[in-house]
Amino acid sequence: MTTLIMKFGGSAVGLNLGLTQMLSIVLHESERWRKLLIVVSALDGVTDQLLEATHLAQLSNGRGYRRIVANMRQRHISLIESLPLGVTEKKALESDIDQMLFEMLAVCQTLSDFPENVAPETIYGIVAVGERLSARIVAALLRQNGQRSVAIDATDLIITDNVFGNATPNLALTRQRITESLMPMLERKIIPVITGFIASTQTGKITVLGRGGSDYTASILGICTDAAEVWIWTDVDGMMTADPHEISSAHSILHMSYEEAAELAYFGARILHPRMIEPLRERAIPLRVRNVFRPGQPGTLVQSTASTLASGIKAVTSIRGLGIVASRSGSLTHISALVDDTLFRITGSRADVMIASQTSSSSFLAFVIPTSAGQGAAHQLEIEIEHLLEQNEEFAGWSARLVNIVTAIGAHLDHQYTMTVEILRRLADIKLLAISHGIGGCSISLVTEVEDADTVLNRVHDLILTQP
Ligand code: ASP
Ligand code: MG
Repeated sequence: MTTLIMKFGGSAVGLNLGLTQMLSIVLHESERWRKLLIVVSALDGVTDQLLEATHLAQLSNGRGYRRIVANMRQRHISLIESLPLGVTEKKALESDIDQMLFEMLAVCQTLSDFPENVAPETIYGIVAVGERLSARIVAALLRQNGQRSVAIDATDLIITDNVFGNATPNLALTRQRITESLMPMLERKIIPVITGFIASTQTGKITVLGRGGSDYTASILGICTDAAEVWIWTDVDGMMTADPHEISSAHSILHMSYEEAAELAYFGARILHPRMIEPLRERAIPLRVRNVFRPGQPGTLVQSTASTLASGIKAVTSIRGLGIVASRSGSLTHISALVDDTLFRITGSRADVMIASQTSSSSFLAFVIPTSAGQGAAHQLEIEIEHLLEQNEEFAGWSARLVNIVTAIGAHLDHQYTMTVEILRRLADIKLLAISHGIGGCSISLVTEVEDADTVLNRVHDLILTQP
């Protein structure tokens, strides 16, 4: 077999146990594949800390950001100490870490001195440190174990537009870079360990691919190297019937189509970055999602399925959305544009998914806030939109509040009206704000009040467990 891309998430690279598992997986797969590329996230939680450091620096809170940097240093150094690395590798890594953190402190200092003219690339240059550190640790571990391996900053490979926090790759330029600088390495049996999440504009300014973007890095590399497969190694047994943190009876799903996986990711399953599926679907590159701590488990295989068989509901997700209401009907164009533009300004994401319903005397719109926009985005958007609606005469009568969108996913749900009926029967006592069948036919979304979301999620999941 030729090329395999394996991405290891923050929980895998953040723990000694995860790294030990990763090592044995890489050693095993390097025997089976001619070319192997590794993509890594930052250690669990590090990206959040780095973002926090940039905020503190802009508030000129020197003690705050220095404490974060000191904690990060401590965490990376103790991880290295716990690994079976030789003295030379250890020393080199420690000096790399110190150098990077030292440079980062200097940038934080500049931010703190001149908070009024911050450039986005300065912020993302700081955020990029997480992946740059983890890639170096992983490459050192592979070298120590007899592999030829180097850490590579994806800022030299993946070229994007200048939507800094949620950038989109220019595939032609990226492919060219990869062909020129990565392919020769692969030919020489070197295993590159590539930083996920981060990229750069054509002029070399650092960008990121949205929160959770390392998955997207793996799929970009997959299509640009014509990989046979892309594997995502995470800390759960693949794609699940629901988020196991929310529903303890959730179980993994063996097979999914690209369409189902994309719906799952768009509607809130944090396990995959929403934009990673489409490029793989276009090239029919199979995707596996597997548990680094339980590599014996099959995980989930996502690929094109010719099946025309309805298979019931496979999974259910819940995601925050922004609901907009008015007690009148009329054109929705301006209000949609307002929300879309604001969402884009705050998060860099467009409102890809919108659910609308209208009667002769009322209008309702729900916009999905993508997971790649990060945790705080929903709240920030709500505040901003409320403010804009108040200020603007044109929008008198419109109001905004957070809602939840619970989505049931399964092939051909649009042909299984008994499923829709059964879902609605189980939710008879709950006020649903809107219901929508996904265009692809494999999803039904229910818009609920935030406080009803857990009940709806649980009841739909019960249906998954009991359906024939
Ligand atoms: N480290 C980045 C994040 O936390 C990217 C990733 O983990 O995929 O969003
Ligand atoms: Mg992730």
